[in-house]
Amino acid sequence: MQQSQDICPTCQSPLKPPEETPSGKRLQRCSKGEWNSETRKTEGCEYLKWLNPEPKKLDEVCPKCGEPLIMAVTRTGKKMKKCSTSGWDKDQRVATGCDYIEWVNGSSKELDEECPQCGEKLVLFTTANGKKMKKCSTAGWDREQRIATGCTYVQWLRAGEEE
Ligand SMILES: [Zn+2]
Ligand SMILES: [Zn+2]
Ligand SMILES: [Zn+2]
Repeated sequence: MQQSQDICPTCQSPLKPPEETPSGKRLQRCSKGEWNSETRKTEGCEYLKWLNPEPKKLDEVCPKCGEPLIMAVTRTGKKMKKCSTSGWDKDQRVATGCDYIEWVNGSSKELDEECPQCGEKLVLFTTANGKKMKKCSTAGWDREQRIATGCTYVQWLRAGEEE
């Protein structure tokens, strides 16, 4: 995967191809820098770019297993809290560890409008990546069964369009 900014901002040298750390994180180093595993220091240019930002550890613990939760962002920009013990087995394509996930909802605001489907109130919902939609206040998510519950009415708003 070639990225557009493959130039070191520190010394203007090209970056090396992405490499993977033993813990599975990906980074790119400056071609003028070299990791010395004996001294555990970078020699030469110290610039490096993390390709997957490290998940942020939260001050909350997993309700299932008591381990810390971390904030993760999906490829589509949705935010969720998940258990720090959870992982992904690339070979077997299965999730490992604790499977607790809590989606972080953007903000929601109750509107003075009624749902055209069921007559309940609508809420203005802002997703974690800034998109806005109106949805029915009865809509919910059954975590046990992993299905949407309640009314399914959703109306996406165009960018910049407020209620
Ligand atoms: Zn450099
Ligand atoms: Zn857990
Ligand atoms: Zn409704």
